[in-house]
Amino acid sequence: MPEPAIPRRAISDSGEEVATTAKQPLLAVNNVEVVYNDVILVLRGLSLHVQDGEIVALLGANGAGKSTTLKAVSGLLKTEDGEVTRGDILFAGERINGKDPDRIVRGGIFQVMEGRRIIADMTCVENLRLGAFTRRDRGVNDDIEMVFGYFPRLKERTTLAGYLSGGEQQMLAIGRALMARPKLILMDEPSMGLSPLLVREVFGIIRRINQELGVGILLVEQNARMALQAASRGYIMENGKVVMDGTADELRNNQDVKEFYLGGASEDAGVSRI
Ligand code: ATP
Repeated sequence: MPEPAIPRRAISDSGEEVATTAKQPLLAVNNVEVVYNDVILVLRGLSLHVQDGEIVALLGANGAGKSTTLKAVSGLLKTEDGEVTRGDILFAGERINGKDPDRIVRGGIFQVMEGRRIIADMTCVENLRLGAFTRRDRGVNDDIEMVFGYFPRLKERTTLAGYLSGGEQQMLAIGRALMARPKLILMDEPSMGLSPLLVREVFGIIRRINQELGVGILLVEQNARMALQAASRGYIMENGKVVMDGTADELRNNQDVKEFYLGGASEDAGVSRI
């Protein structure tokens, strides 16, 4: 599929205005403000973007507004009496703020919520079928096998999903997202509550999914070390806005990031709490 391109105007070295072509981001969040319950201002002019097929980390302290950012994109803010009051959210160039969550899923964005939110009294296969609720095609059974290819242990677990381990539930939540055939997955803290070994396993699969299926991923994580290993770029949020951004290498080598976000915890410890 050809990459979408948008014409831009730029000034050349000699001072002339020239047309350039920049890749249109898959997701562009432009100067977004979010208010809960009509009064609580949480996002204060947040901007970020994700290119097609890119993994981008969104890092920051507790309460910085990371989950709110994901919910603003997926439309789930509405379920919490939150609203985008300023700015634009564009997906493949189309404005999506204010749209209902199911239309946003149909458009190609799927959020894997913090805490997994799988349906405990359904089996793995039933949970996976739920992820395909927007689809009318006949490929659903094949895609269940595709998900089992990424997460073989889910195939062996025929009990209700509520009896799965924390790691298996996280895998099921990611698998359910894949069933919607999204172009962009919003992942909220996939490492939460997992052992270091499982965190590495889950992040390995996230990278494979990104590389093999070309799905873009906006990754909210407290485990900054793992997130910056998986991502090509990242943003650091404080108080509802981005205070730093760069390539994963730039962020990893930045003194402030090292001190506040990567400090102390070794890779083997698995989790670098902010
Ligand atoms: P954490 O890492 O702890 O999950 P976060 O960066 O994801 O934090 P958010 O969950 O987006 O932060 O919360 C940002 C701020 O918005 C917090 O002050 C929180 O109390 C507030 N907030 C979040 N959800 C709501 C809500 N439904 N109603 C009112 N305030 C909310």
